[in-house]
Amino acid sequence: MNAAHPASAAIDWAAVRTDFPVLAREVHGKPLIYFDSANTGQKPNAVIDAVDDFYRHHNANVSRAVHTLGTEATETYEGARGKLARFLNVRVDELVLCSGTTFAINLIAYSWALPRLKAGDAIVLTRMEHHANIVPWQLVAQRTGATIKVAEIDGRGALNLDQLYSLLTPEVKLLALTHVSNVLGTVNPVREICREARKRGIATLVDGSQAAPHRPLDIAAIGCDFYAITGHKMSGPTGTGALWARREHLEAMPPFIGGGEMIKEVRFEGTVFADGPRRFEAGTPNIAGFAGLGAAVDYLSALGMANIDAREQALLARFTQALRDVPGLRIFGEAPEKAAVVSFLIEGAHAHDLATLLDLEGVAIRSGHHCAHPLMQHFGVPATCRASLAYYNTFDEIDAFVAALNKVRKLLA
Ligand code: PLP
Repeated sequence: MNAAHPASAAIDWAAVRTDFPVLAREVHGKPLIYFDSANTGQKPNAVIDAVDDFYRHHNANVSRAVHTLGTEATETYEGARGKLARFLNVRVDELVLCSGTTFAINLIAYSWALPRLKAGDAIVLTRMEHHANIVPWQLVAQRTGATIKVAEIDGRGALNLDQLYSLLTPEVKLLALTHVSNVLGTVNPVREICREARKRGIATLVDGSQAAPHRPLDIAAIGCDFYAITGHKMSGPTGTGALWARREHLEAMPPFIGGGEMIKEVRFEGTVFADGPRRFEAGTPNIAGFAGLGAAVDYLSALGMANIDAREQALLARFTQALRDVPGLRIFGEAPEKAAVVSFLIEGAHAHDLATLLDLEGVAIRSGHHCAHPLMQHFGVPATCRASLAYYNTFDEIDAFVAALNKVRKLLA
């Protein structure tokens, strides 16, 4: 499956699926149904081969050696930066490569927010944030005396925009919000929200962990100040990701972690730091991982993000319809614009029991708080089940999932 597909081209999704070796395996003697892609995405052969090829044929460190392998390693790493920049529609010299969203948000917290914020300032978050976009801000608030304000959600799990805008008062210095909720699937209107924040002089950070794998992205058009992505949810390797930041911020931010690769000159009297993204990339990066992420970006681009989005929306529509027919099942989050993530509970059954019994049927879903305690507190539940689909899933899997769910539901009744 290599040829590039224009938007709305007919794609042979059954052939696409065969690109993912793990999807052919069995679990407890049943065909694997992997509905946990919001947790981490599965990897196509192209990605696995790129990592393998790097270690077999090109392995060397980046930006240090002049020998052939060193040059190839640097080209692979910088090549991935270029591919990602095109994929996200941002400038290559504004893209910091890092281990993922958690690192990216902490980088902004420590390098941008900590030196700027003071007592009396405020940070606005939303009820649906992942802990990765809450805890770093609590640490910043503790150290600066800033406060945190929370934008709430409505009954369908969409942001209450009037309430959100009412929070954007002059003491607010940053609005940090997710593009797509990892629990509810809600797609937030980040373009409109960032425009409102910008009008009021408030910087915006968008957590794109759950958006980048599923929909066409144009970060320049969103108009935010910072955008974080994580490679392992984009069919790429774990330990890869990126932070996009406006050039003016990157230039003004002090380094977060010091070491090799991020300097121009080091003397015991003091160090002159590198410019741009390199200043924030101390130490040896995950070069093989970025070889894989570059391949993942090529793979997603060849399929076409619009095609992936359309495929996943079709799967979501069928899945939601099928779940509505399951007795006692409650869906958490039915916002008008949703990604293919469905959180649910079945009356009388604990989330972990459901997930454990489903595993015996070959079905992988996540149960728990999904790193979103404040959202669980909002719903008054300790945990939910979460089924999250991707373009490599099938309608047959949805039918098999619902049959398995009905079977285990009766066991727990
Ligand atoms: N933000 C959201 C919305 C997520 O879903 C996740 C991962 O589950 C993260 C942040 C954390 O990203 P990473 O795995 O790169 O640390």
